[in-house]
Amino acid sequence: MQKQEQLYEGKAKKVFKTDDPNLLIVDYKDDATAFNGLKKGTIIGKGVINNRMSNLLMQRLEKDGIPTHFVEELSERETLVKKVSIVPLEVIIRNISAGSFAKRFGVDEGIVFDEPTIEFSYKNDELGDPLMNAYHAIALKLATREEIETIKKYAFAVNESLKKFWAECGVTLVDFKLEFGKTSSGEIVLADEISPDTCRLWDSKTNEKLDKDRFRRDLGGVEDAYAEVMKRLTAHI
Ligand code: ADP
Ligand code: UDP
Repeated sequence: MQKQEQLYEGKAKKVFKTDDPNLLIVDYKDDATAFNGLKKGTIIGKGVINNRMSNLLMQRLEKDGIPTHFVEELSERETLVKKVSIVPLEVIIRNISAGSFAKRFGVDEGIVFDEPTIEFSYKNDELGDPLMNAYHAIALKLATREEIETIKKYAFAVNESLKKFWAECGVTLVDFKLEFGKTSSGEIVLADEISPDTCRLWDSKTNEKLDKDRFRRDLGGVEDAYAEVMKRLTAHI
């Protein structure tokens, strides 16, 4: 597959055209940002870990019946994916209170919910990714009612699959962000990435943070945490 011109450079990945109009190459960087780009840094080796982890988890999700954009891992940092038109929603599932949920509702982190929650943010950096509900998304024609229903169904299915898998690795899946897209044939598939950049992952025994919160909150040991979750994942996949 021939890598052609760069289409886009985001905060964590570069996206390239290929000689097939329906396929793209994503290239994972070590750049890290937080707080809507206000905090910037580097997590050495992150791109390699996130590329591999995302691909392994997406292949697992495919086996559980969730369609994804994954096609083929090309190198340590590069993956061939189906080109999709991204639904501009950040789909967030939570099992335990943390981050913006704890802040917004004035509760502690670590409250285990009886049922997972779902929320949407409008994927728009200029507006700071504002929270929105499904009616807002439909009103703004970001997705149809049917597409939202499909996205919700897949997002909860991803949670069930990953919660179980991470538990086997001694890791608690606290919350995560997903992005979905529409292929050229109109199918909704899971896109973007699933990694410690986009999930909160806590050690099951100690609740130690093994994810990007170590970078966001200057907790230190960021690289070690990414390496640790990757080690546990590869031992169980
Ligand atoms: P950001 O845009 O938030 O800075 P990244 O650095 O991760 O994020 O850039 C990757 C971009 O590629 C994101 O905008 C994401 O929505 C988009 N993307 C992810 N998967 C696909 C895909 N299969 N097809 C098209 N775009 C994708
Ligand atoms: N998340 C993400 N990208 C974003 C916002 C959130 O990947 O732009 C992930 C984040 O890593 C966490 C979950 O979504 O796993 C919920 O994040 P939250 O709303 O608590 O926001 P934060 O505290 O990260 O600002």
